[in-house]
Amino acid sequence: MSERKLGMLIDLSLCIGCNACTVACKRENDVPLGAFNTWIESFDVERPDGRIARANVPKQCNHCASAPCVKVCPTGASYRTDEGVVMTDPEKCIGCKYCMAACPYQARWVDDETGEVGKCTFCHHRTTHGLLPACVGTCITRARYFGDLNDPESDIAKKIAASDTDVLHADLGLDPSLHYIGLSEISEMP
Ligand code: SF4
Ligand code: SF4
Ligand code: SF4
Repeated sequence: MSERKLGMLIDLSLCIGCNACTVACKRENDVPLGAFNTWIESFDVERPDGRIARANVPKQCNHCASAPCVKVCPTGASYRTDEGVVMTDPEKCIGCKYCMAACPYQARWVDDETGEVGKCTFCHHRTTHGLLPACVGTCITRARYFGDLNDPESDIAKKIAASDTDVLHADLGLDPSLHYIGLSEISEMP
């Protein structure tokens, strides 16, 4: 079997923009005031029948397989695990913020008080112990899936195989591990 590649799938038809994931993530990961590992961007879209509907797009680190944040990090503090999770080692981070500048998804934040640079870790401290990420576990509509993209028997791989999915800014060629159902129906992505 090929090596594990962890990823997430978000079904936009199920996301109601309640921000339960945002709050659960902040609490689980002690994300500092004013910073977010995941956030919701909501906007109006016109449906084919002319009706205006609300679209909610949860965003976070895409755990890019070809991650520019990892490439530009001068100390190796930003790195990719064997399972494809992009992490930041605070012991090696010198606070240069090159990773923040290199990330086209604006997924990273810095705590101005401590100099800590952070972002979504796919809840590494939970998922390495067999638990779901906090945002996945808390989602009341089950809009979020998490698991091994390379295991055809995983729920996430089956759901992706059975659906039309997209990634954000596929044109950048960064091979994101965050997949969406329903992205193509949103013509004007902010
Ligand atoms: Fe959307 Fe689920 Fe997050 Fe609520 S918890 S905003 S439904 S992804
Ligand atoms: Fe790095 Fe940004 Fe890609 Fe996350 S989304 S792996 S922070 S470049
Ligand atoms: Fe936050 Fe964990 Fe979800 Fe990433 S996987 S957005 S760190 S709760």
